[in-house]
Amino acid sequence: MRPEMLNPLFVEAGALEGVGPKSRKPLEKLGLERVKDIAYHLPERFVLRHAVDNLDQASVGEQIVVALTPTEHRASAGRGPFRVLAADALGNICALTYFGKASYSARKLLPVGETRWVAGRLDQYGQMLQIVHPEHIEVESAKLAGKLNEPVYRLAEGLTQPMVARLVAQAMARLPELAEWIEPGLIERQKWPAWRAALALSHRDEHAAARDRLAYDELLANSLALMLVKESNRQRRGQALRGDGALRGRLELPFGLTGAQRRSIGEIEGDMGQASPMLRLLQGDVGSGKTVVALESMLIAVEAGAQAALLAPTELLARQHYETLRQLAAPAGVTLALLTGRDKGRAREGILMGLADGSIQIVVGTHAIFQEAVSYRNLGLVVIDEQHRFGVSQRLMLTQKGKVTPHCLAMTATPIPRTLTLAQYGEMEVSRLDEMPPGRQAIDTRVVAIERLPEVVSGIERHLATGQQAYWVCPLVRDSENEGDDLAAAEARYAALKARFGEEVVLVHGQLRPEQKDAAMERFASGHAKLLVATTVIEVGVDVPAATLMVVEQAERFGLAQLHQLRGRVGRGSEKSTCLLLRGSELSETAKQRLALMRETQDGFRIAEEDLKLRGGGELLGTRQSGETAFRIAGLEQIQRLLPLAHDDARLLIERDGGLASPRGEAARLLLYLFERDWGVQLLRGG
Ligand code: ADP
Ligand code: MG
Repeated sequence: MRPEMLNPLFVEAGALEGVGPKSRKPLEKLGLERVKDIAYHLPERFVLRHAVDNLDQASVGEQIVVALTPTEHRASAGRGPFRVLAADALGNICALTYFGKASYSARKLLPVGETRWVAGRLDQYGQMLQIVHPEHIEVESAKLAGKLNEPVYRLAEGLTQPMVARLVAQAMARLPELAEWIEPGLIERQKWPAWRAALALSHRDEHAAARDRLAYDELLANSLALMLVKESNRQRRGQALRGDGALRGRLELPFGLTGAQRRSIGEIEGDMGQASPMLRLLQGDVGSGKTVVALESMLIAVEAGAQAALLAPTELLARQHYETLRQLAAPAGVTLALLTGRDKGRAREGILMGLADGSIQIVVGTHAIFQEAVSYRNLGLVVIDEQHRFGVSQRLMLTQKGKVTPHCLAMTATPIPRTLTLAQYGEMEVSRLDEMPPGRQAIDTRVVAIERLPEVVSGIERHLATGQQAYWVCPLVRDSENEGDDLAAAEARYAALKARFGEEVVLVHGQLRPEQKDAAMERFASGHAKLLVATTVIEVGVDVPAATLMVVEQAERFGLAQLHQLRGRVGRGSEKSTCLLLRGSELSETAKQRLALMRETQDGFRIAEEDLKLRGGGELLGTRQSGETAFRIAGLEQIQRLLPLAHDDARLLIERDGGLASPRGEAARLLLYLFERDWGVQLLRGG
């Protein structure tokens, strides 16, 4: 049960004044459902305004507050703007310029001959000074005193800055004072304000200490949640699975395992031999050979008389894994099945029966393998591929299937820096595949200006003529308003390439139906199609060794990690592979550096660290950028600086007080409720 003192924070945003039916949608869109969300909707930046006595004291481009007296209303003929000419105390003239409907209110707000206090950005228009659409106009100067440093909030359509500011003020007025959850020594050393004060200060000012404190809170909540997962997992009843090696011994792998693969399998075998359930992350770059490690682990479970399940994030990947594993495992004589949401009727019934009676030993699939209707005779191991697609709370659900908790092996190819590994997977032990199978050739990576498109297309023609295949990736920014445009661009590129290469070209994107997508993929994987045009749906897992050329269009729009993943689709066979990063003409300095880094190295872990550095430096106020990390308050720089502290703090607290029963533990509970949406409060509910 949520402590009562938190109730004011959980009041619905709709109950605040000024939230009509119209603002409900945009608030929802911003994730502002409750009072606490609004209190945590921190300004993205502040507008700093300079209060001047006259325009001589101001410079062009500056945000100012100044007293002006309108001398003339000047409507222009036709569609031009409406201008109010106004004089400062020295008689300098400035035009207050309005476009469109705004001019109606301007006439009323700025009567000729009456002095007004005006706030806005001073511009130059020909010989004249002007302010376009002044942001505030007040009769009394006192009203503008608070606008010298004005917060700017992220908005959604239908909301305005003043509306959000009013909601924030109401939310702040409702905040209770909460007991301190941060360790007293730390708060003193860092000179951090208390929680409520930190929120208030952050809305008022660029207050670094307050922002740090709030970021720390979020990181601490994350660390605590992960540690509670770890702790509760440790207390669950699992089963010790010890294989005799009989099945593994029958495998006929066409290669010897790398040292890293052997070491990881050893670590997994050690964990699975324990009665408390394994919670391990296998981190390995694209192509480092995670699949074989998964197979060996699953065979351990089967040798010990249990079943194993492999969960993939998409149908496509599930299907591919199934095919690969079936071939690899054939000599061992185990029974595998594929189960996805698409399987219906008889086939599905058959699989469900096989899982229930144990005749199916290994199942590969999507979420469908964990639905209510699916029961296992004895599920001993769950392998989750491309772990980054699943959140902490989803991970929890997965491991809760059955009375005996299965061992869990998570795999990710997303090379994340060590600090972020802690934040995302802090509850797990980590095995790293830091060694590539032998014989991999470096991928020749080049950055090419889009103007050279015709050459690139001719290059593809020569490439396809040798019988090799190629990918052509177009950006698709998800959750973007321009998603339609992106898709249209991919479709247009497909049409153009198809006009040139005919039936050799297939298109895959996220809005195709699964069977269309699979049909296209199958044509490509079987070699019937030579060129695959795709959006980023091919990012993870796809394995076609004969594809040796990757073209990425508008490469500057992709994150480094994503580019790295995409590039990992080639260089999988024995032939030399090439990656062409097509770039637009206007690149930011960071974008240039990022593309240069891609050219320079193929080491995913290094790319991840550099990426973090490149982005971490350029941040304002530590606000989170576009969902790259799981954090809403803490920015990359803050994560690097504060997460290790939060992690240690959380560990100490849980070691001393795993039940969160001490006064500080109680306070930490409050914190976990504040971030329940992110880090799953089911922990507190004893789930
Ligand atoms: P990922 O870690 O990206 O999932 P995969 O498991 O798909 O990588 O392996 C990539 C390719 O490398 C596969 O074709 C696989 O058969 C091959 N492979 C895996 N381990 C080895 C090894 N030890 N030696 C040579 N090739 C290997
Ligand atoms: Mg893989």
